[in-house]
Amino acid sequence: MRNEALPDLPRRILMGPGPSDVHPRVLAALARPTIGHLDPAFVALMDDIKALLRYAFRTENDLTIAISAPGSAGMEACFVNLIEPGDSVIVCINGVFGGRMKENVERCGAKAIVVEDPWGEPVDPVKVQAALKANPGVKAVAFVHAETSTGVASDAGAICRLAQAAGVLSIVDTVTGLAGIPVEVDAWGADAVYSGTQKCLSCPPGLSPVTFGPRAVEALKNRKTKVQSWFLDLSLVTAYWGDKGGGSRTYHHTAPVNALYGLHEALVMLREEGVEASVKRHAAMHAALVAGFEAMGLSMKVDAAVRLPQLNVVEIPASVDEAAIRRQLLSLYNLEIGAGLGAWAGKVWRIGLMGQSASPTHVLTCLAAIESALQGAGAAINLGKAQPAARAALGS
Ligand SMILES: *Cc1c(COP(=O)(O)O)cnc(C)c1O
Repeated sequence: MRNEALPDLPRRILMGPGPSDVHPRVLAALARPTIGHLDPAFVALMDDIKALLRYAFRTENDLTIAISAPGSAGMEACFVNLIEPGDSVIVCINGVFGGRMKENVERCGAKAIVVEDPWGEPVDPVKVQAALKANPGVKAVAFVHAETSTGVASDAGAICRLAQAAGVLSIVDTVTGLAGIPVEVDAWGADAVYSGTQKCLSCPPGLSPVTFGPRAVEALKNRKTKVQSWFLDLSLVTAYWGDKGGGSRTYHHTAPVNALYGLHEALVMLREEGVEASVKRHAAMHAALVAGFEAMGLSMKVDAAVRLPQLNVVEIPASVDEAAIRRQLLSLYNLEIGAGLGAWAGKVWRIGLMGQSASPTHVLTCLAAIESALQGAGAAINLGKAQPAARAALGS
């Protein structure tokens, strides 16, 4: 056992699929003095967080809170609160996280009707429409807005509108989407939406913003069975988070007070920048990164029309030991990028431009480091082209 209070942790540049770099303002907020989770000052802060989350999600939903656990818990909260044994749910799968939704549905004792699309492609609304027609009586349609495993964006508005027209709830994973691409909970008519803190909000991991619209709240009220999970039961959790008008708060669990300070600061920063400006910044950094890779002679894996700006999937040149390159990026440049998953393992890198990591410095550093590492590995790439291309795209 070592005696140091903390081992010597490296300082990394985080450009993987999350967590992203955390701004010093957020780190400073985390270090503020801990107060009680029912302290009036803390209750006021929770009200601010709810209002700021409504701003980020673009919703008026009363039930807009942060679950005290990471994005996976937000996913689970949506399913356990809305899905009962014997229900059936249309689950769209076009990557890893859609597969997890199916697992959640089945663990709720419900039937998953899978609408599958190939990796690298978005959820096809035409297939969703056909599944709705073929399966009257389903409870919900669940899909991933921003598939972090493949770097693909799906048309959340179109899918939510199909669900709404069929009188079916929509459950939307926008863990990677929020603040990186447009998220319009009310305009979409989305019913239950969850996110995470460590992607484009640039907080440490550990919290999951969720928002439930009126139809989802109604479905929760009309349950025949108790929510399977006591911890995630939103009818209990909301007694602590309170309604839109404030009101009394009762203890449910001890909120992660300092983590919520961090989320508050990150949301204040998002508000200062503006959510539209944040989305624009992600798009601009993505364009510069892509210009750099293409000038280097590398190809992007996903069709330009459906690419996520915040998660860039780039093809690795043949015969390169990709794990060795990533180790080198980490040891020499302190740069973390992500490996490919599933069928794409060994074939692609997943490069995050999320939140604070969506900056010109990150784009240029990443391109320089990868070019240098690939040069060292003897890969056939165009040397000296990436930086000028990216700088031209950045206008610098
Ligand atoms: C990261 C991620 C999750 C899970 O979030 P955790 O915080 O790791 O639990 C869920 N869905 C998507 C699309 C993600 O990218």
